[in-house]
Amino acid sequence: MYVPKTLMIGRCWRCGKRIYRFDEYYRCPKCGALYCPTCYRKTFGKCPADQTPLEMR
Ligand SMILES: [Zn+2]
Ligand SMILES: [Zn+2]
Repeated sequence: MYVPKTLMIGRCWRCGKRIYRFDEYYRCPKCGALYCPTCYRKTFGKCPADQTPLEMR
């Protein structure tokens, strides 16, 4: 099946994992950084750059 590239919305800013539209991911409302669930846990739910609590998309 063909998967359009637009389904990929970015990469986790911490580990570089690809994040797709249908994945579970987290976003920093302040700087817009995306994080995968693994990094969400490892950062205790806070953006490592600015300590802002991450939002589940
Ligand atoms: Zn990650
Ligand atoms: Zn941030």
